[in-house]
Amino acid sequence: AELELSKSGWLLDITKLKLGGNIGEGEFGAVYEGEYLGQQVAVKTIKCDVTAQAFLQETTVMTKLQHKNLVRLLGVMLHKGLHIVTELMTKGNLVNFLRTRGRSVVNSAQLLHFALDVCEGMEYLESKKLIHRDLAARNVLVSDDSVAKVSDFGLTKVVSKAKSDNAKLPVKWTAPEALKKEKFSTKSDVWSYGVLLWEIFSYGRQPYPKMSLKEVKEMVEGGYRMEAPEDCPPALYSLMRLCWEQEPRRRPAFNKLREKLEREAGKHSGG
Ligand code: ADP
Repeated sequence: AELELSKSGWLLDITKLKLGGNIGEGEFGAVYEGEYLGQQVAVKTIKCDVTAQAFLQETTVMTKLQHKNLVRLLGVMLHKGLHIVTELMTKGNLVNFLRTRGRSVVNSAQLLHFALDVCEGMEYLESKKLIHRDLAARNVLVSDDSVAKVSDFGLTKVVSKAKSDNAKLPVKWTAPEALKKEKFSTKSDVWSYGVLLWEIFSYGRQPYPKMSLKEVKEMVEGGYRMEAPEDCPPALYSLMRLCWEQEPRRRPAFNKLREKLEREAGKHSGG
């Protein structure tokens, strides 16, 4: 895989990297900001014991993806493990963005814009027949010009393999059929997207507040769904409920969701 990468130009030259400060903690290692050939970048380190080789395979997926609403991969570096270099998203992840600013700063038009951004990124993945498996607001990053982009795609397949014991699935974001029968699909991503919508319109609240994972599993299987977040536009809550249809086939595809969201955005801008 290393040879392939170097031939394809995705293997970056570590001597051209200026590493800056720590900007986050990932599951597999720290994230730093830096500069690569004059461009601001984020560098995600994968500690070597977590089969960096497997991640390397997966970054090959990322190299083929390019969309304005997906965090762009610049390349990888091999040096005491694996370093994944992506564009720097200066405003951090969407959960923190919304929590720290709140209702007084972020209006509902901006929330709708984030929802649309993520939906477009997912529509692109859907068109490529790729499943994210870990779509959640914590995995959406915000750029300097406040564009929301989906991150951690392509890596997720390896991650779920690495912990296939099911113990670490993000229960509150995972569709019932994926939790019970490991049936992951674009439609299980749509379920997660519904939860992400709920996170956006609740300004970054933890989904299913006060419920344990066991309770969530049981209640959702039994038909329980979250209530609308405070002041959530009814049309948006209706979309969430469509995403949370028990039957995967009844959930809308991302291209349908995007059309619906665009119609909503059009209404609010008066057009
Ligand atoms: P993991 O998926 O392994 O948990 P993340 O990719 O979510 O790790 O990274 C952890 C945190 O680091 C994110 O929540 C975010 O705050 C920060 N981060 C990750 N990638 C970037 C990036 N490209 N630009 C800016 N911050 C980032």
